[in-house]
Amino acid sequence: MNDLIIKQGKLINGTIIDLVINDGKITAIGPFAATGLNAIKEIDLHGHYHISAGWIDAHTHCYPQSPLYFDEPDLIGIASGVTTVVDAGSAGADDIDHFYAVSRKAKTHVYAFLNIARTGIRSQNELADMNSIDNEQFQDAARRHKGFVIGLKARMSKSVIGENGLLPLLKAKIMQKTNGLPLMVHIGNPPPNLEAMVDLLTKGDIITHCFNGKPNRILDGTGKLKHAVQKALARGVILDVGHGTESLSFSVAEQAIKFGAHPHMISSDIYQRNRVGGPVYSLASVMTKFLNMGLPAEYILNCVTINAANLLHLPQKGRLERGCDADITIFELKDQRIELVDAEGQVRIGSQQFIPIAAIVSGTHIAVTENTATVDLTVKNTTADRSAINDLSQ
Ligand SMILES: [Zn+2]
Repeated sequence: MNDLIIKQGKLINGTIIDLVINDGKITAIGPFAATGLNAIKEIDLHGHYHISAGWIDAHTHCYPQSPLYFDEPDLIGIASGVTTVVDAGSAGADDIDHFYAVSRKAKTHVYAFLNIARTGIRSQNELADMNSIDNEQFQDAARRHKGFVIGLKARMSKSVIGENGLLPLLKAKIMQKTNGLPLMVHIGNPPPNLEAMVDLLTKGDIITHCFNGKPNRILDGTGKLKHAVQKALARGVILDVGHGTESLSFSVAEQAIKFGAHPHMISSDIYQRNRVGGPVYSLASVMTKFLNMGLPAEYILNCVTINAANLLHLPQKGRLERGCDADITIFELKDQRIELVDAEGQVRIGSQQFIPIAAIVSGTHIAVTENTATVDLTVKNTTADRSAINDLSQ
């Protein structure tokens, strides 16, 4: 008897497949892979619903006790079709033990980029005092939480760094040498100037808020990609969307994409306020914005699955393959008019949307989203109560 069978899911290329899941892993996959097999639970998608590896949101704020930017992992995660959320620096060395402990209660997989400031984002200017960047505390915390801490976070904008210029970033690059983890750098208002920061980044480092419309945008005055950014991309520096409350400009993104600067990862920078009041709402909503900017659906899905898994060094995630983690997102790609608003109030009218239907984490936790109220998703041997978070496994 297998744990879970998913029948007749539609890949983005149109292929209809079955999935067989045991002990949290995909044990068989392919057309008719589940024919003749039995399972404790069975979901039949009737060839109608799309299926992909579980979506990974590489930039969120989900440390519920953080004073400024906070949310519940399961609200931005499994209830929204997202199976893995990465907190981007809400916690530093001082709070990481507590964050780790509370995150274990979530059904969604939670990982953290550890803020180089030991305070994390307890205040808006965590890098204004160089004494708060304590390498020993940082390395201790990263060692204690190896596997949970998957990167370093440095928020490099004027309101965060005070008078410190490039110093926090220079220090972060030294700290990174001890553990080899990716460094995520937030860009916003200068100083420091974007070019000076980008020149310090190396292969695998991540520029988040990459399409912000502030003066530190990746485009120059004539609308072309800044030379330093071109060089960084050639070195293997990564572009991450990190939409957030202030950091996605449609006009910047459209122009950058025209010049071939496609995002490697599409993330939300979601937290409670911009989830409830916009302009972020959900990872799916950010993905929809890029769909209507002309990026193909398959490319967008790669950004939130295999690209994110590779760039965040999570090799068991992001792929629908035998032996990989059974994290799965079920969704629709629906032709439907939608008004889309970026972080600067620019409006675009879209014609197609990503609509998450359900998320399955480790083959165990199955949550249907609120969108499921209007569709038919049957789970054998269980009762489907169609509320926002409905863990059918319990
Ligand atoms: Zn953020």
